[in-house]
Amino acid sequence: MYVRTRFAPSPTGVLHLGGLRTALYNWLYARRHGGEFLLRIEDTDRARSSDENVRTLIEALRSFGLDLDGEPLLQSSRVQRHREVAQELLERGAAYHCYCTPDELAAMRDEQRARGADPRYDGRCRERTAPRDGVKPVIRFRRPDTEEVVVQDWLHGEVRYRNAQLDDLVLLRANGSPTYHLSCVTDDEDMGVRQVIRGDDHLNNTPRQLQLIQALGWTPPEYCHLPLLLAPDGKKLSKRDEATDALHYLRAGYLPDAVLNYLARLGWSHGDQEVFSVSELIDSFGRTGLGASASRLDAGKLNWINQQHMKGADAETLSEGLATQLKRLGLDPGDGPPLHQAVEAWRERAETFADMAQAARWAYSGVIELDERASRKFLRPVVREALAAVRNALSGLEDWAPGAIHACIAETAESQGIGFGKLGQPLRVAVTGGAVSPPIDTTLSLAGRARTLDRLDKALAYIDARIAAADPAAQG
Ligand code: GLU
Repeated sequence: MYVRTRFAPSPTGVLHLGGLRTALYNWLYARRHGGEFLLRIEDTDRARSSDENVRTLIEALRSFGLDLDGEPLLQSSRVQRHREVAQELLERGAAYHCYCTPDELAAMRDEQRARGADPRYDGRCRERTAPRDGVKPVIRFRRPDTEEVVVQDWLHGEVRYRNAQLDDLVLLRANGSPTYHLSCVTDDEDMGVRQVIRGDDHLNNTPRQLQLIQALGWTPPEYCHLPLLLAPDGKKLSKRDEATDALHYLRAGYLPDAVLNYLARLGWSHGDQEVFSVSELIDSFGRTGLGASASRLDAGKLNWINQQHMKGADAETLSEGLATQLKRLGLDPGDGPPLHQAVEAWRERAETFADMAQAARWAYSGVIELDERASRKFLRPVVREALAAVRNALSGLEDWAPGAIHACIAETAESQGIGFGKLGQPLRVAVTGGAVSPPIDTTLSLAGRARTLDRLDKALAYIDARIAAADPAAQG
């Protein structure tokens, strides 16, 4: 079957992770089968949609690399067509004018509730032939008289709905505006959508949409209703939660492909493979691996997947990612070692670019702060002499590169009669302010000669101050 999928978000705010996953599955399915992936913006609720939201949405999809076939379709531009389809249903006898007033409908529902029935429209205008003076009618769908509607769903199999549960839904309001079901099925038909992949929350809409499609003599698409994404605690995701905004992850320094990989795996699997490039996802994505149970977001898993992608990313991508995050910290990526050197030093360790930038702060700042615990522990009077000696040796070093730096530290340690590590750790604290950094020769090479020497002078002054204060902890 020809593949043409669509993502049909309502532009009421940010693109949420759940929305991005829906878009991704539609996109992957289309790309996998050489089909098309379309975007329809369901912006008929003008009060909640804004041009700004529409732009943000399109931009968000673009940032994740989910390219569109054709131009995005704005549902609001299609009202005339939706009205025509309502008219056609009237002509086919599949819809009728309903002149019930709001008061009448309220009284009907009250009466239904009073006798313990579910409130639903009872079809009292179905056989009305004459208009009612002064009342603008709505157009209602005439629900067919079949026993049940059967929805075929990739994930849920056959889902049966008793027709009596459905009522004659409004297609066109009295003011001429179409309702969701009418717009949705009309647009899917006109866009030639063959597969509707969307959230589980729409499953119960499907029998109504199917009836409409059948009444119009159209061919229904295939349906796939994806289970919800849940918060880590298993509760429903709150839309206000920052963690649900897909773009938040890019701002926070995750690779777009890693986020896609992570989302693809929330609800789909392919053997026990966890790490996928986007082209691997396209090659392996399909119906068979889809799972029907809800998945919980798991930040640890996302970080791990991101780390795997960072290990495999090219130097340019990594450098850009680091630069962006350094800027977010208020640091100048040009005021420090070349970015490609920094990313080499941290790519195996950092889970995200934000982590990497945090770890690399000392290399891109003119001044550092000494971590109190680390400096008390490692910048002690006993190492003063060795530290001063290594400072002098380093100041005369011709070639400021890891190999030469390593040899210089090793020689000084030996001549001072202390182990390499016993000198390395005070050096690290002096140059980075903390006790954790890449190998000491790489660390010094990243810091550069001027900053290394300056920071060693400050560390020596710190030790002198300890000696002067006769700090009891300074007795070695
Ligand atoms: N606009 C709907 C939503 O944002 C999606 C409708 C559909 O996929 O059919 O939930």
